Amino acid sequence: SKVLLKVEGLKKYFPIRKGVLNKQVGYVKAVDDVSFEVFEGETLGIVGESGCGKSTTGRLLMRLLEPTEGKVEFAGQQISELSKDEMRKARRDIQMIFQDPYASLNPRHSIGKILEEPLIVHGMGSAKERKQKVLELLEIVGLNEYHINRYPHQFSGGQRQRIGIARALMTNPRLIIADEPVSALDVSIQSQVLNLLQELQKDLKLTYIFISHDLGVVRHISNRVGVMYLGKLVELTASEDLYAEPLHPYTQALLASVPVPDPTFEREQIIISGDIPSASNPPSGCAFHPRCPFKKEQCSQVVPKMQEVKPGHYVACHLYEATQH
Ligand code: SF4
Ligand code: MG
Repeated sequence: SKVLLKVEGLKKYFPIRKGVLNKQVGYVKAVDDVSFEVFEGETLGIVGESGCGKSTTGRLLMRLLEPTEGKVEFAGQQISELSKDEMRKARRDIQMIFQDPYASLNPRHSIGKILEEPLIVHGMGSAKERKQKVLELLEIVGLNEYHINRYPHQFSGGQRQRIGIARALMTNPRLIIADEPVSALDVSIQSQVLNLLQELQKDLKLTYIFISHDLGVVRHISNRVGVMYLGKLVELTASEDLYAEPLHPYTQALLASVPVPDPTFEREQIIISGDIPSASNPPSGCAFHPRCPFKKEQCSQVVPKMQEVKPGHYVACHLYEATQH
């Protein structure tokens, strides 16, 4: 299928400054040389522990943050080269859904006003058309016209996330970047919101990047999944493939800590030892080596490159390098 988004060598290094002179002493490599493609109509899940750079990646794609290096191409356009005005236009097509809808909804604005705002920002439609669109979107996300004059605090967490979703859809985007969209919700509400996202994807032909620390949630919704560790993408493949046959030792460890839905299916346990090292001082070579049960001598010296070891299955680990050629 068609590539909608192409990310190449994306990096975001934040300078670390110290002391009274505010001297730069190093970098946090929040996103470090990440490349992937997103196909039109799919959901690409991005998973990893907190601090692995998945949220920063999402913000870089929206250019809410400027990358240190790398290219982002959306629908044939180089996002990184757009002017402010052009970027504003591009944001109609790429929208975000956040973890905490309460924090991202202005508490002093009615739902009607909150939903209308993106249209005003983008100069879309007359007042009447905008009102029409607000009503349409409320309906689509399972709310109705009686909610239009209410305020965010008058809604439950699940309803607020529906409002967040409606707002993201106001400008008819093609790509939605959802950053932990159900993590703040009760488990019973999570599946309702996930089902809504899936229905919307089908009906509106949306493409999703779904960011989460929760492998169970990502599995439920993704066609393909990318796993991040300390700023790097370490594995990327079709969802069923990742869960059936994870190749990277870090992915194997992550999956071993997720409850397996089928109790007759036993997974070999790999326990990750040690704390997560910090991205400001990542281990040399493969950043996972201090925690990896399979590490070899070269692992602490040479950074493994992402390689396609089976069709469509990419992994960055020295264990699989011999399988090339
Ligand atoms: Fe483990 Fe080495 Fe693979 Fe890193 S490259 S995950 S240390 S085997
Ligand atoms: Mg995050």
